[in-house]
Amino acid sequence: MTILVIAEHDNASVKGATLNTVTAALACGGDVHILIAGANAGAAAAAAAQIAGVSKVLHADAPGFEHGLAENVAAQVLAVASGYSHLVFPATASGKNIAPRVAAKLDVAQISDVTKVLSADTFERPIYAGNAIATVQSLDATKVLTVRTTGFDPAAATGGSATVEVLSASADAGKSTFVGSEIAKNDRPELTAAKIIVSGGRALGSAEKFNEVMIPLADKLGAALGASRAAVDAGYAPNDWQVGQTGKIVAPQLYIAAGISGAIQHLAGMKDSKVIVAINKDGEAPIFSVADYGLEADLFVAVPELVAAL
Ligand SMILES: Cc1cc2nc3c(=O)[nH]c(=O)nc-3n(C[C@H](O)[C@H](O)[C@H](O)COP(=O)(O)OP(=O)(O)OC[C@H]3O[C@@H](n4cnc5c(N)ncnc54)[C@H](O)[C@@H]3O)c2cc1C
Repeated sequence: MTILVIAEHDNASVKGATLNTVTAALACGGDVHILIAGANAGAAAAAAAQIAGVSKVLHADAPGFEHGLAENVAAQVLAVASGYSHLVFPATASGKNIAPRVAAKLDVAQISDVTKVLSADTFERPIYAGNAIATVQSLDATKVLTVRTTGFDPAAATGGSATVEVLSASADAGKSTFVGSEIAKNDRPELTAAKIIVSGGRALGSAEKFNEVMIPLADKLGAALGASRAAVDAGYAPNDWQVGQTGKIVAPQLYIAAGISGAIQHLAGMKDSKVIVAINKDGEAPIFSVADYGLEADLFVAVPELVAAL
């Protein structure tokens, strides 16, 4: 049994989500290979070869892979798929774009958002915004999985010594072209990789207050900033800060929620955090049901006091 992890990378290095995906692949049992489909991506392939537990890196290099266009990467995955029992993707925007194309072409069912591997063919995944866990068995010859990265520890980025096999790259599918990207510049840690996140909710009341109250706390803790959907929809915080079912799924060491009620859609994105601190003036707020530490207080008083005490 050989398992292929489809790496997420930027041609120079391998993104963190790939490491969690390798851990999930190893849990399936068997040899684990990694596919790097990139452009001038020798450095990413070399980095992938260092990941502990990986025995082979497949490196396909072509201009059409430079920006990870799903149509092109899916074609490359399909070109090698017959040699693999499992094709494993991170459940990130990129992985979720490629995996369904591969599953459809192979005519197999995709198993999405795997949080636990019970055996080579049986997996756990959350349903109903994380309120229930489904155990799913796949009898398909090839298992196509997307892995919720917060469910698995990252594999060690170094210590491995995989061989690198250069593949002949599949032809450009010609179905899409890369036009451009606007990447938000951010000096803070990336939300899904941050060890500490401070998140604000509707209670902040305005973008000015959000920044005035939450940024000093994030600065003190070296934290990433997050927000509830209500705060994002009201324009208090940018879209890419949203945590939850329709935002980012995070599991930092410490998650501080200020003025967030704890709707199930928000909890779905953060309840696996190691330590959760909630500050809310309503003692009945559902966020307290998942909090390790709860402070029933006015955040406009409590957060500045916390900043001063740190
Ligand atoms: C399909 C769908 C998907 C969704 N996806 C997401 C998602 O991804 N992420 C997400 O967050 N939501 C999501 N939502 C929205 C979700 O249901 C809630 O509406 C939202 O999370 C509420 O945000 P909030 O907690 O900031 O606001 P509210 O629910 O209004 O809570 C504000 C809280 O602040 C407290 N508060 C008020 N003033 C103060 C003060 N001065 N000091 C301290 N506490 C105070 C209040 O007691 C209250 O608990 C989704 C909804 C749907 C239907």
